[in-house]
Amino acid sequence: MTTPDEIDENVRAGSVEGPLTATEQGLIDEIRRRTSALGERFCTSCGYCLPCPQEVNIPGIFRLWNLQRGYGNDAYSRLEYQKLCEQRHWADFPGASAEHCVECGLCETKCPEGLPVMADLKKAHSDLTAPRQ
Ligand code: SF4
Ligand code: SF4
Repeated sequence: MTTPDEIDENVRAGSVEGPLTATEQGLIDEIRRRTSALGERFCTSCGYCLPCPQEVNIPGIFRLWNLQRGYGNDAYSRLEYQKLCEQRHWADFPGASAEHCVECGLCETKCPEGLPVMADLKKAHSDLTAPRQ
């Protein structure tokens, strides 16, 4: 949760009494199934690791990587990462690509998920630029 509105929404959800409907339970199962592909820990786009002195768009890159790995959105993720790498002004995710990371380690000291950000940026770059199978 990153905004007061999200806290209010979660409090409302937690205050609802009674069992989940079959539709609600199905939705939860589907989300669990999809996010399991991301592993136990993954970037939540909180942005606490920013700013990066090299202007690497850490949350944006990980968002694209998550979309590719967890949601099968390969084409969009690759295209947007390519635009980010080429610094296209119409890119959905501006900033610098993972290749600009100089491994200063600053982001890892601020990530509440304890992610190995530097190593994961390399994996994300590799996955998002690898030749299609
Ligand atoms: S380790 Fe890389 S991504 Fe993290 S703050 Fe330093 S330059 Fe930026
Ligand atoms: S602090 Fe961690 S979880 Fe949050 S955006 Fe940065 S890498 Fe992702």
